[in-house]
Amino acid sequence: MKIFCGRANPTTGSMEWLEEGEDYDYHQEIARSRYADMLHDKDRNVKYYQGIRAAVSRVKERGEKAIVLDIGTGTGLLSMMAASAGADFCYAIEVFKPMANAAVKIVEKNGFSDKIKVINKHSTEVTVGPDGDMQCRANILVTELFDTELIGEGALPTYEHAHRNLVQEGCEAVPHRATVYVQLVESRRMWSWKKLFPVHVEAGDGEKILIPPSEMENCPGVPSVCDIQLNQMPSSDFSTLSDVVTMFSVDFSKPVQSASTYYRVQLEPVKSGKAQIVLSWWDIDMDPLGTINCTMAPYWVKPTSALQWRDHWMQCVYFLPREEPVVQGEKLYLTACRDEYSVWYSLQKAREGENEADGEEHKADVCVESPVCRCRAHLLWNRPRFGELNDQSRTRQYISSLRKVLKTDSVCLCISDGSLLPVLAHYLGAKQVQCMQPSRTDLYHPHDLSNHLEDKIKIIEARPELLKPSHLEDKKISVLVGEPFFTTSLLPWHNLYFWYARTAVSTHLASNVTVLPQSASLHMMIVEFQDLWRIRSPCGTCEGFDVQTMDDMIKDSLNFRESKEAEPHPLWEYPCKSLSDPQEVLTFDFTKTVPQHCLSTEGSVKLLRKGKSHGAVLWMKYHLAADISVSTGLMQMSNEKGNCEWNPHCKQAVYFFSSVIESEILSDPAAVTYTINFDTKTGEIAMDFKL
Ligand code: SAH
Ligand code: ZN
Repeated sequence: MKIFCGRANPTTGSMEWLEEGEDYDYHQEIARSRYADMLHDKDRNVKYYQGIRAAVSRVKERGEKAIVLDIGTGTGLLSMMAASAGADFCYAIEVFKPMANAAVKIVEKNGFSDKIKVINKHSTEVTVGPDGDMQCRANILVTELFDTELIGEGALPTYEHAHRNLVQEGCEAVPHRATVYVQLVESRRMWSWKKLFPVHVEAGDGEKILIPPSEMENCPGVPSVCDIQLNQMPSSDFSTLSDVVTMFSVDFSKPVQSASTYYRVQLEPVKSGKAQIVLSWWDIDMDPLGTINCTMAPYWVKPTSALQWRDHWMQCVYFLPREEPVVQGEKLYLTACRDEYSVWYSLQKAREGENEADGEEHKADVCVESPVCRCRAHLLWNRPRFGELNDQSRTRQYISSLRKVLKTDSVCLCISDGSLLPVLAHYLGAKQVQCMQPSRTDLYHPHDLSNHLEDKIKIIEARPELLKPSHLEDKKISVLVGEPFFTTSLLPWHNLYFWYARTAVSTHLASNVTVLPQSASLHMMIVEFQDLWRIRSPCGTCEGFDVQTMDDMIKDSLNFRESKEAEPHPLWEYPCKSLSDPQEVLTFDFTKTVPQHCLSTEGSVKLLRKGKSHGAVLWMKYHLAADISVSTGLMQMSNEKGNCEWNPHCKQAVYFFSSVIESEILSDPAAVTYTINFDTKTGEIAMDFKL
């Protein structure tokens, strides 16, 4: 079997389909999976174990045999807990073949082969009966099928089917119930992930303001969940307008309905303000009485929550369809609509003299359709990109740099996806502005932002290598600009596609062309992560069970390609401490074309602080003009402790060192040696570090 994997080629900016061996897909899946993170989630594991013990005891007290159904067994962990707790038999269902194989090995290694049957099927394919996968229906249902949104991984249809076909009526369930909580907030920072704010441009002939069209203003956005580490959001970045409210719960021990529905609660704002955002999280009660509770509540609700770091379950940010001014004490209804896999929210004002019992009358106004973007901007710009475009200090830096290089007779070409630069260049007086957006021509046009721009900014639909003099009205480009930003970029250096595009249009550049940015540089720093290290670190034993087979499997998959790869992570969500100074490791000169040969460097970086070297972080800096640079990584570092502030709109590249243990025994002034190689043929960067 051949597998084709889509991947953007950073030298062409377009998607390519690469043929991979049949193992490839699953190695990627394992290497980037959340299994390690789950096994490191002590709070989760301890509470599952307590809940499972309690459920087995309740069944035994009734004098019944304890027959467990574990849907989505993964490593087999929850089944092994059940078997240890005295369950008579466990059916462990796992749809993902490599995991099911691993579960068989792990179960065997831990001596539970006679008590646990691993079944490599989707739960809806499992049969019950004398010749079936299961001899009889189970009386204990154990699962861990939840994502940050609770239901996004299909927990509801899976439970619905299991209650109909695989478990007895009145069965015990671990967890017993889940509850979803919400809080209404106002937050300019989070709202900037959904709305384009007006852009102010101080031009020679007065201030110009770009005001987004009403279609964009009133667009409900996209339905995809926005899940973040809310514990990293400082309280100064939002203001809570309501108390925490229970939105809905699901009892997993009873038949579950997955069909679309809605839930509604009444709210009284504790403060007047602009309702923009619904923050949401859930908890699970492992037992019917709710004495064993595992919660995702953020720090201001539960001060100890930062102690239970996890990445597989975070918190959700939902954007209301539009901003709504609310007054302290007034009556509001918050409605959560859901389908089988996702949730969305809307806010209604109660009518005069209405009380809770009349709430039903609102049924008609309740949104039933999930949000659909009508303005196209939400398809083009994802949430971090909206945030970046709304970053006023960043915009100011581009404006200052453009002002330095643009003249009234400038012929300006902008190469970047969905960029505001063409509009800025036009406002700053460039005579002729054209733009190329290599991967998103179909989606966005600066005209979408204002009709007045229609004849002012021309879109060139050709790819850079196909640019013809006629596209430029037979003129030469005097100013070539880019942010650079391309939607296909995964790692920071993929935006170097700008350099390739610049190379492709070389013959169209005037001899005295200004390229903005004039250059880029790659920066690197060694860090100790507060928590992120867990997602790639071996676990050994988990609650007394030997899960090393899983560790080995992850390691194999990480090493599946001959060299390890860096991976993108938004580090504002994942605090780390710098152990070295930031170091510039490579520079890329955009005033020249991409060279034929590779760009390599090697050297060593001193470890200035004691700590565990978990990995290296890499990011790009763009040098826009003489003393104006923008960083897509480190923004600031407080020197004594090495705490870092990262660009909140970008993902940085993280290269995890293969052995954290080795770096733990590092003593006194040690150094890390590195080799970094930018392959100009592929646009990829390979690296290696020695501790
Ligand atoms: N139970 C393990 C793993 C949880 S991850 C633990 O708690 O550590 C969830 C697993 O469920 C994944 O491996 C996924 O492949 C599997 N899965 C999800 N839905 C499933 C279904 N309906 N049937 C079988 N496996 C499922
Ligand atoms: Zn939209």
